[in-house]
Amino acid sequence: MPYHQRQMDYDWSQSAMPKTTSMTTTSRMSNQHVQRFPCGNCNSVFSRKHNLQYHLKFECGQSPRFNCPYCAYRTRHPSNVRAHVRRIHPGNTVYVVDICKTELLQFT
Ligand SMILES: [Zn+2]
Ligand SMILES: [Zn+2]
Repeated sequence: MPYHQRQMDYDWSQSAMPKTTSMTTTSRMSNQHVQRFPCGNCNSVFSRKHNLQYHLKFECGQSPRFNCPYCAYRTRHPSNVRAHVRRIHPGNTVYVVDICKTELLQFT
């Protein structure tokens, strides 16, 4: 009889063990789970929602529309053109050719 009781006690403590283990596993998993914002159109993954929104607005699916006025350099970001002109065409006026606006002007 005493043996049986001891076994019962042992079983009880053992059944409590996996509970603790599973709890630590869950909390560790939630710590590892870094929020990611994958783009639905390409393979890009972003750590911030803002970056994904920026990507969707200016990069993904967008054709480069900002042109260097001095060469064929074309990019999706007007700031890239400004940096490009300063670096590649020093001494020239730094401005950006917006292809969309140019086409619109030529059309009217
Ligand atoms: Zn994308
Ligand atoms: Zn250029």
